[in-house]
Amino acid sequence: MSFLITCWILAMIAGLCWAGWATGILSTLTVLLFFSVRPGALGHGLGWLQLVVIVATPWLLAAQRHRDAQRVRELQQQEAQQMSHLQEASRTLLSLQVGTRRLETQIAHITDVYHVTKQTTGALHVRELFESSLGIAPRLLNANGLRLIDLSGEQPTVLRAKRAPDGRLVGDPTNHVQEFERYIIDQTIQAGQPAGAEAAALPGRVPEGLARLAWAPLWREQRPIGVLIADNLPEDQLKTLTIVANQLSLQLARIHLYQQVEAMAVTDALTGLFVRRYFLERAQDELTRAKRHRLPATLLMVDLDHFKQKNDQFGHLVGDVVLKDVAQLLKRNLREIDLIARYGGEEFVLLLVETGVEQGLAIAQRLRQLVEMRPIRAYDELLHQTISVGVAGFPEDAQDFEPLLERSDQALYAAKRAGRNHVARWSTAHAPA
Ligand code: GH3
Ligand code: MG
Ligand code: MG
Repeated sequence: MSFLITCWILAMIAGLCWAGWATGILSTLTVLLFFSVRPGALGHGLGWLQLVVIVATPWLLAAQRHRDAQRVRELQQQEAQQMSHLQEASRTLLSLQVGTRRLETQIAHITDVYHVTKQTTGALHVRELFESSLGIAPRLLNANGLRLIDLSGEQPTVLRAKRAPDGRLVGDPTNHVQEFERYIIDQTIQAGQPAGAEAAALPGRVPEGLARLAWAPLWREQRPIGVLIADNLPEDQLKTLTIVANQLSLQLARIHLYQQVEAMAVTDALTGLFVRRYFLERAQDELTRAKRHRLPATLLMVDLDHFKQKNDQFGHLVGDVVLKDVAQLLKRNLREIDLIARYGGEEFVLLLVETGVEQGLAIAQRLRQLVEMRPIRAYDELLHQTISVGVAGFPEDAQDFEPLLERSDQALYAAKRAGRNHVARWSTAHAPA
């Protein structure tokens, strides 16, 4: 009997372990033992019931174990699927984070570029533009120095800044255009493209510590108007340099326009000399300065002789050429610090600063002679022109600006009365009665 129970328990354990053949053998053995222990068991209902229980129990356990194992597999599969979903989600999250960081960098970049524009829009002069861009440029460009070349004048102007130990870019007052800078200007004008080069490959003496230079043109209406140069700029920042250069182009073009308007307001269109109003302002300031420092000054009033005749004989267009030619001749023969303006129709006024009246008279004579000697080509005509000059000296002839102006005019009439092509200094005899 105890064999039967042991065998049955083993069959159940085999069923639990889901070992099919062991369960079969042990179940068969149990049935055989059952019949050997209780041969007449099938003679009554209880015996059948016992047989069914003995046979069915291990198989029920095996079936249950089978279902459980299948369920575990299903769960494991679900878990694996969820794990792979999770991994995919974490990868997406990671790439989103990378994307966000990239976007943040781009936004910071755009903000900085916007600041370049914002900081520089107030500038009215190229130097101001350069200085205001120095505040923001180091955030965008990892350069050791910056150079802004303005090509609007007859000669290029170079503004430079170097990186200080504290990281700021500070102005460098060197004025002279260096050979390698001129080479870059030529390259920019020819190619019109942003570019870079090893310092050693550039002509001329390149400042110490400079390994590489990168540059980008500044444009206005498809014409180069300047160049932005960055010292030792990493190669991957060439695009940023172009973006900054584009922003500065707009500002530089605006400054050039402003300067043109400003120049137009003070410059006479025909002769290129200052207009009378501007001259009066500047000359008054000069005379105030002369008084303060006890310096002399001489005022010259110049008028073209018999100019009406020229107009009548050759026409106004020819007259214009003569007027312009004389004006330019006078201007060319003055110092930079002297003032010259078109005072009226064919009349010019000159203030020779820090010049005594005797010296002023000599200059007036020289100018008169220069005009007299000069053949003027006007269309098909070759003409000659003379001038008369009235001279009044500060402080000898007048102590204030208005009387000085009046007296040089009186002296001019004296020069005319003396026969024209003449220089006259003011004297009391010239004063109206
Ligand atoms: P004078 O020797 O006494 O100065 O004789 P003038 O003929 O030069 O003097 P006047 O003042 O009688 O004439 C000045 C002339 O200058 C009159 C005008 O036609 C001429 N004029 C003034 N402005 C211009 C200009 O912009 N272009 C031309 N072509 N002529 C001008
Ligand atoms: Mg005249
Ligand atoms: Mg006149």
